[in-house]
Amino acid sequence: MPSGRDFGSGRRGGGTTKKNAFCSFCRKSYRDVGPLVEGPGDVYICGECIDLCQSILEQERRRRGSSKQLFTKVPTPRETVKRLDEYVIGQDHSKRVLAVAVYSHYKRLIHGSSKPEVELDKSNILLIGPTGCGKTLLAQTLARILDVPFAIGDATTLTEAGYVGEDVENLLLKLLHAADFDLESAQRGILYIDEIDKIGKTSQNVSITRDVSGEGVQQALLKMLEGTLANVPPQGGRKHPEQQYIQMDTSNILFICGGTFVGLDNIISKRLGRRTIRFGQEKTPHDEESLSELLPQVTSDDILEFGLIPELVGRLPVVSALTPLDTDTLVRVLSEPKNALIKQYAEMFAMENAELEFTEGALRAIAERTHEKETGARGLRSIIESVMLDIMFELPDQPGSARYLVTEDIVYGRERLFALPEEKSKSA
Ligand code: ADP
Repeated sequence: MPSGRDFGSGRRGGGTTKKNAFCSFCRKSYRDVGPLVEGPGDVYICGECIDLCQSILEQERRRRGSSKQLFTKVPTPRETVKRLDEYVIGQDHSKRVLAVAVYSHYKRLIHGSSKPEVELDKSNILLIGPTGCGKTLLAQTLARILDVPFAIGDATTLTEAGYVGEDVENLLLKLLHAADFDLESAQRGILYIDEIDKIGKTSQNVSITRDVSGEGVQQALLKMLEGTLANVPPQGGRKHPEQQYIQMDTSNILFICGGTFVGLDNIISKRLGRRTIRFGQEKTPHDEESLSELLPQVTSDDILEFGLIPELVGRLPVVSALTPLDTDTLVRVLSEPKNALIKQYAEMFAMENAELEFTEGALRAIAERTHEKETGARGLRSIIESVMLDIMFELPDQPGSARYLVTEDIVYGRERLFALPEEKSKSA
């Protein structure tokens, strides 16, 4: 920027001769901050203050832009489900429940600004389901659809003030980070809190050895879920009295809590008067079926009996159970989503001028091997990675273009993956 540009007289580009001039905003002198821009009547501004002004204006523009966006961009539940379908396989009931809750939440946000006298309750969400069935993925995809900041926290890392561990406010800090410290936008974000079931004060089946993360944490969480002005330490970590805090209003943040709630099916089945599936008993193929059948019937009473305090249950009014993924669904997870694993691998092969395909049998074999590990869809990646490791190692050194076909035998390690011979490649 040319120094000493004078806005008042229309004079352009002349360097200021006034070495003793100082910035009218921060009072620093020309000597300290370098060239100044001159305005009419002995007014100057330095580069630092210009930068600051620019970021203030930028933030304001973003804030206005995004709140306007929000008014026109809340997708209807039907649109939300359609978009969720692109990334999340199955879990249709949870998708509907989430889509409606999110629609109400953001409508409430808009409504709140026009009619402050009508208070709509917040609809935080509780997702229940075994590991790797898509709880985090659903929350994350929702945030993507709505174009709001998203962060993931873990309830088990939280402890009461005074103990080693994290303060509840650090979860909010993660959201603030995700929003690039744009407070307005962070205050409308989605915060996913995992393992909410592990902070129960009593539990039927989970052994609780911790005594510092029980009810105290639940109380701190309660305030945050309900809506409070929280003091967030910008550097994270423990709060210090001399630290500066960022005040964050949590009343418009959508909290989605998730947990596996191991043993909840027994509570439900007992309530329904069914025979209890005893823990530790040899697993039968029916266990998964019964989980799929029982979990959707969950009520707040079951969650209370599981050990979450009533106030917390009360602040998570929307409850939805996800079902375990069976082999058929795992096959779909492998191939259907926009970012499906096999699509990603095919893309990587294409970059190396090679073609990659999987037979139906291979997909099923990968799904079956994953299913045995009981880690839900989470285990798919490690299985497929182990199957592909050797070829991924060698592929960049392979001359010319080639075609590869992954079969069931390859997945089970009975054969190795080689480039198909030219003629077979053509006929296939
Ligand atoms: P959790 O239920 O334990 O929160 P995640 O949502 O983190 O599980 O799932 C782990 C990974 O497994 C996801 O990143 C995603 O790739 C895959 N996944 C899980 N469930 C599904 C699903 N229903 N559809 C598509 N992918 C899924």
